[in-house]
Amino acid sequence: MLQKELLYWFGLNKRELPWRNTQDPYIIWLSEVILQQTRVQQGLPYFQNFLQKYPDVFSMAAAKEDQILKIWQGLGYYSRARNMLKTARLVSENYNGQFPKSYSELIKLKGIGPYTAAAIASFAFNEPVAVLDGNVFRVLSRLYAKNDPINSSTGKKVFEELAHNFLNKANPATHNQAIMELGALVCTPKNPNCSICPLQKSCLAFDLGLVQTLPVKLKKLKVRTRFLHYFIFENKGKIAIYQRPEGDIWQNLFDLPSFEDTSHLDKFLLKNKLLELNWLEQNDEIEFLLQMKHILTHQRLEAIYFLVRTNTLPKLNINELWIEPRALKLKAIPRLFDKFLDWWKSNDLGNLTLKK
Ligand code: SF4
Repeated sequence: MLQKELLYWFGLNKRELPWRNTQDPYIIWLSEVILQQTRVQQGLPYFQNFLQKYPDVFSMAAAKEDQILKIWQGLGYYSRARNMLKTARLVSENYNGQFPKSYSELIKLKGIGPYTAAAIASFAFNEPVAVLDGNVFRVLSRLYAKNDPINSSTGKKVFEELAHNFLNKANPATHNQAIMELGALVCTPKNPNCSICPLQKSCLAFDLGLVQTLPVKLKKLKVRTRFLHYFIFENKGKIAIYQRPEGDIWQNLFDLPSFEDTSHLDKFLLKNKLLELNWLEQNDEIEFLLQMKHILTHQRLEAIYFLVRTNTLPKLNINELWIEPRALKLKAIPRLFDKFLDWWKSNDLGNLTLKK
């Protein structure tokens, strides 16, 4: 059976590490906190320093925060060190120095996430719960040729189930360590050494030639910042709106006239731009109203609003409609416009009123 081959391979090939061959939850927890932050070789001296200075959870709990931070120095992400101290104090005070023995209790502790809870529960207490770290995701996605993105919520569920089904329930502690070790030493991200892999004969990615394309990870999309200038053109109690054209993100919704630039324009440049567009006459006045942010999935909108009181009706050439502000409630508008209207309702815009 595949799991037995994995254990056999582990017995012959595992690295001797100081946190292996122990069932002490404090030592396992300490090593996992450090290994979340760095690789095994870089983490080893930190682990040894911590253990020498704080051989048990009570001694760590009695430490001052700056002492912990001093030993942690160089690992970065200092909130992890602070959480580690908080957990040590909590276990020491509320649990009489004994780490809880089950996954469901461990996960309640500060700084202990699903991976660490599963590692402690299985390594220290042999609870049949599967660990899922980057190594395990990689091995399972290749073994079963699963292309569900490992950083998506649906992908995580798929791999949780796979990991649980693949777990050797009779020996979860060694199984979990073995699959992580296989990912670290053999089924590596680049150039995995399939020729010596104990899972090769059942590996679908190997069979199908998909080893280099798995696992799949969703690329983080870049968020683009856009600078929008919006205008309330007011003439005799009416304002100009228009219907956004096809192909626009707010297609067919009604909006205020606007233009976009690579940054926000100052008043002088803005006036020139409006004159250029024939949206303004020399004597018209522009009044700054508000600046607000609006976040969309892939865009961060920086919107800036101005009031332009005009004496003559400008031709905006966008099939504009001139309506009384209260008629806006009958129109479908983008959420950003809606947010602006909320601000308008709670602020006085001279004699240009917007009834609720
Ligand atoms: Fe990974 Fe290759 Fe082993 Fe498949 S055969 S699990 S791809 S090392």
